Amino acid sequence: MLSVEPINAYDDNYIWLVSTNEGSIVIDPGESEKIIKAIDENIIDLKGILITHHHYDHTNGLKDLLEKNEFDVYGPINNINGINKKVSDLDKFSIIGIEFEVIEIPGHTLDHIAFYSFNNGSPILFCGDTLFAGGCGRVFEGTYEQMFEALKKISKFPKNTKVYCGHEYTLSNIKFALEVDPNNEKLQSEFEHVQSLVKSNIPSLPTTIEKELDLNPFLRCNTLEIQKNIIERFNVGNSEFEIFTAIRKWKDNY
Ligand SMILES: [Zn+2]
Repeated sequence: MLSVEPINAYDDNYIWLVSTNEGSIVIDPGESEKIIKAIDENIIDLKGILITHHHYDHTNGLKDLLEKNEFDVYGPINNINGINKKVSDLDKFSIIGIEFEVIEIPGHTLDHIAFYSFNNGSPILFCGDTLFAGGCGRVFEGTYEQMFEALKKISKFPKNTKVYCGHEYTLSNIKFALEVDPNNEKLQSEFEHVQSLVKSNIPSLPTTIEKELDLNPFLRCNTLEIQKNIIERFNVGNSEFEIFTAIRKWKDNY
C-alpha cells in the first residue's frame, strides 16, 4: 500500500511524503526540519528525494537532509547541489517499490520535470509548479508555448490520476477561474467546497486530471464559452494557444 501525505512548508508549499512498506521518499523538500524530526523519531525511513525544479522553495531542505545521510536524489539536469540521479524525459526508475516515469515539462522553469507512476491502476503525478488545482504556474523561464505543451502532456494522463501540486493555491485559482468561465456550474460548486476546506485547514489537494479537465481554465481553452469570453475581452485569435496565452497574461496581472 502506498500513502501520500502533505508536509506544510513556507506559507503555502507542500512537501509530499510518499510511503510504502519499503520506506519513504519526499518530493520537493523546500524545508528540512519536519522531515529530519520524523527521521529522528523513527516515524519515517527516508530512502530518497525527488526534485521537480530548481526553485528554493522546492530544494532548500536538500542540504540538511544530505548532511544527515546519503540519499538517492532524483532531479532534473541543472546546477542544484545534491541531485545525484539526474533524469530526463521518459527515464524510468524504481524507489520504495514504486516505478516512476519522468516527464519534462518546461515553462515555469526550463528544468521543470514531473514524476508519474501508474501505480497498479491508481496513478499518481507529482508536477511541482506546472499544473495547480484550478490553475497553472507562472511562466518564469520558458515560453508560453512550452507551458501550453507541458499542460497538454499532463492532461493526457489517465483521468483518475491523482495530481499532487507544489502549492495550496486552489481557492485563489478558482476565484480567477470563475472570471474566465463564469457559467461553469462545477466550478461554482468547487468554489464553495474549497472555501470550506481552507476554513478548516484541510488541503484541497490532490486533485485529479478529470477534475482539472472540468474546472481548470488553462486546460479548457478549446471550450466555446471561454473562447468567447477571452476574445471579447482581449481581442485575440481563437486558437487554443492564443486563448491560453491571454488567460495566463490576465492571471499574471490579476
Ligand atoms: Zn517554482
